[in-house]
Amino acid sequence: MAFEIIEDRAEHERSQRGRYVTRDSKGFHNVDRPEEWDYEPDPDESFSSDYEHIQRDLISITPSMFTEFAIKMPDKENQVFKPFSFAERRYLRQIYDTPNKRTLLKCGRQVEKSTMLGNKLLSYACIQTALNSLYVSPTNQQTKVFSQDRLKEPIETSEYLKTWTTTKLSDNVFLKKFINRSQITLRYAYLNADRCRGIPADVICLDELQDLLTDNIPVIEECASHSNIKIFMYSGTPKSLDNTIEYYWTTYSTQNEWAVPCHRHSIQTPGGAMTKQHWNILSEEHIGKESLICDRCENPIYANDDMAQWVSLNPNIIKQIPKPYEGYRIPQLMVPWVSHIDILQKQKTYSRPKFFNEVLGLSFDSGTRPLTRQDVIDNCDEHIRLDPDYQNKVKAFVGEAYPVYAGVDWGTGEKTYTVLTLGTYLRSGKFTIFYIHRFEGVETEPKVQMREIERIINEYKVRRAGCDYGGGFWPNDELTRIFGWQRVVKYQYSTPSEKVKWEDGLKRFLVHRTEVMSDVFNAIKRRDVFAFPNWEQFQIPFASDMLNIFSEYSEQLRMNVYKKSPNCTDDSFHSILLCFLASMLDQPRPDVIASMSQTGNRKS
Ligand SMILES: [Zn+2]
Repeated sequence: MAFEIIEDRAEHERSQRGRYVTRDSKGFHNVDRPEEWDYEPDPDESFSSDYEHIQRDLISITPSMFTEFAIKMPDKENQVFKPFSFAERRYLRQIYDTPNKRTLLKCGRQVEKSTMLGNKLLSYACIQTALNSLYVSPTNQQTKVFSQDRLKEPIETSEYLKTWTTTKLSDNVFLKKFINRSQITLRYAYLNADRCRGIPADVICLDELQDLLTDNIPVIEECASHSNIKIFMYSGTPKSLDNTIEYYWTTYSTQNEWAVPCHRHSIQTPGGAMTKQHWNILSEEHIGKESLICDRCENPIYANDDMAQWVSLNPNIIKQIPKPYEGYRIPQLMVPWVSHIDILQKQKTYSRPKFFNEVLGLSFDSGTRPLTRQDVIDNCDEHIRLDPDYQNKVKAFVGEAYPVYAGVDWGTGEKTYTVLTLGTYLRSGKFTIFYIHRFEGVETEPKVQMREIERIINEYKVRRAGCDYGGGFWPNDELTRIFGWQRVVKYQYSTPSEKVKWEDGLKRFLVHRTEVMSDVFNAIKRRDVFAFPNWEQFQIPFASDMLNIFSEYSEQLRMNVYKKSPNCTDDSFHSILLCFLASMLDQPRPDVIASMSQTGNRKS
């Protein structure tokens, strides 16, 4: 298999011990020190007199040791609270104590993910003086539940944690303060991350990562920009293969898997008595009738085997990027409190995506892409060519009889690009995209780009240009100044009551993003609405932009939303959509976008 087992685990753990963040009377070790905090005793707080005493007794402690010491777990059978134990959760210790500052947990449901995040946040807050942590989940409700169940309750049930805080300090749902001046701020960010802006943080904990919008993550990470510590803990349950969590997992993480040995395959190595186990990375093929089984011999294996351990399936990531995420996958198969019978039951009753996501902790591609490659290929016309000869012929006859419409999706030249599209109705009756161009390299320069767009609009006698409002104030104003507001029409994605709605006050159209994108996808699938340039020239990057779009159900909005895979572009699709919308001002297509018949006429 493609991973290495460190044979002497005990030796390895001894050698790792020096890497843990520890603390003694001389201060912290193995951690970038935070900025010096000027300690000012607060007369209101009784702890101040203890402070010197505490400093004398500083001890080395890891988050897992602190958790065992301070955190109590409810024992429902015996109706008592017992100290948190790693005995049955041996796999958790490394995740609690890793010195790596970036961790990514890809978890099934019910694997104590939230408990772990809560315990780590509490441990960090208590161990480290004046540490600011920021917890973010997608919704208000999720954040409140986390605050109540994973922070408030552990504090109230632990006589030790209670000494780190007071009711006065910790009563606020969105802010937990500790007497050592550490604090945990809690926020939520679904559609926008505005509530997180400007909160200084040393530790950023993003929960339910799969439901956060990719574009919001950098905004939240910005909160740690002034910290010397910068710890990032991301976690969630996987969804589709396009989801953010899968993207971070495959692109930036060590992809650690819990390797379970089967001892029946010992091999005598030539040099001596060394034997090797067969290692199993837990997946559906390991679900036997009565227990987990080895994928080679189909005999029982045990997830809590003494030799079971974390292995990295992507060890070379360290050579590729300087600060990879330490990624851990935790499926239900390895946690002791989910019974094998339950797993068999879920295998029968859950849908395939749900079983993969929630039980196996794996992403599942459930075919959520609105367009297939074949859909796009079937719209391509081999006669439509992007090279100069063909384009010169087109220029000669378009204009009066064949009014030309343009679509402009503005981009920055980094991860998004400006794409200019021209279309008209040809004799075939199809709306024909005969020109499409992506501005790259020197053309990403705003002034160069603007001159080029101006030239194209003039040469092809464009009647109207539909522009993306979101991408550019300056370029939209500039185009309007040159061509006038009748020819330059701005569209903004939103969720208006109608699919496309003119907002007189705003002087632009609001476009219902999901509905209109759906309509255009359906039109492409019909194969009789559009004609695109020949496949060879259209394929990259234009067709691939269309194919990068996928849909995912949003629990928050209670509908499917279209997203693009992180690190991919989808600008060409939006450019074509804008071009089509602009054409509908003169030639409505109620068969494609129904409500356009009522809203196609713009008031001044
Ligand atoms: Zn075996």
